[in-house]
Amino acid sequence: MWQIIGQSKIVSLLQRSIEHGSLAHAYLLVGPAHVGKMRLATDLAQALNCKAPEPPCDKCESCRRIASGKHADIQVIYLGQNQAEESKQRAEISIEQVKDMLHTANLPPFEGEYKVYIIDQAEQMSNEAANRLLKTLEEPPAKVLFLLLTANDKLLPTTIVSRCQRLELSRLATGEVESALARRNGIDPAKARLLARLSHGCLGWAIAATKDASMLQQRADRLNQLIEMASAGYVWRFDVAGQLAFQFSKKRETVYELLDEWLGWWRDVMLIKTDCRDAVVNIDFMNTLVDMAQSYSLVQIKDIIGAIRSAGEQLKLNANARLVLEVLMLNIPRINRIEVKHG
Ligand SMILES: [Zn+2]
Repeated sequence: MWQIIGQSKIVSLLQRSIEHGSLAHAYLLVGPAHVGKMRLATDLAQALNCKAPEPPCDKCESCRRIASGKHADIQVIYLGQNQAEESKQRAEISIEQVKDMLHTANLPPFEGEYKVYIIDQAEQMSNEAANRLLKTLEEPPAKVLFLLLTANDKLLPTTIVSRCQRLELSRLATGEVESALARRNGIDPAKARLLARLSHGCLGWAIAATKDASMLQQRADRLNQLIEMASAGYVWRFDVAGQLAFQFSKKRETVYELLDEWLGWWRDVMLIKTDCRDAVVNIDFMNTLVDMAQSYSLVQIKDIIGAIRSAGEQLKLNANARLVLEVLMLNIPRINRIEVKHG
């Protein structure tokens, strides 16, 4: 049985292709982070090498070796692989990684039926790495399957994209994530409900959050700061803007993530203001959200959402980060202090 949750169209297409022997030489698996691209790649590698009558069984020797990363015919390369912690900043999949992977491409499979080469975050390949891969994609060896995983295929060279069959993985419905967490991962219903909402349809994120408590803690810290900001004076707010501008100079993504979280929060406030509570994401902060919705008018909420969006866009255009964030702070009307009440 394929382990991936959802993506049933893609799974049946791949199953049919395996049955008919019409598998492409290379697939591009496109979808947001944690949506299940690596799970799908692993399922496919298992399906091609499984010994059971209905592959993949996830139980036979071959399936188990693939799942634990020990199968000699399945290779995965990714960003930061084999790099010392301090040099992981280098944002490239190198030509050496691709060369190492392709080293045995022309030999028959060692222990299975098919070699499967998986490149995670394929858009991070250096130009040299992509060119080296392209050579092999142009004359693909038999019994070799390439799986390129990416959240953004527009960043890949068109020469590579044109050699791959594109499969787009979609976000799961909140209910699908919730039931998978409760049923397969044994997460208690209340937590499954919250994580499903926070995951935005990416089950892998929710599963990671069940294993790493710091993910939810970091979110709670960010939301508490956001709530405090609403009643804080400008000295406090500009201090936060300064800290964020510094973070932005070190690691841009963290600030983009934070702004996304703020957008999610204000969207929730808007949903409550407009009586659409069912769609609220941050359900564990429901009482605080309700208090906040009472403190702002709908027009103010709409303006705040617009201001956060515009700040994000300006940061992407390389505007002065500190100034952009300070202006954003000015655009959030000050209200009376709100006590955080969970539930
Ligand atoms: Zn098997």
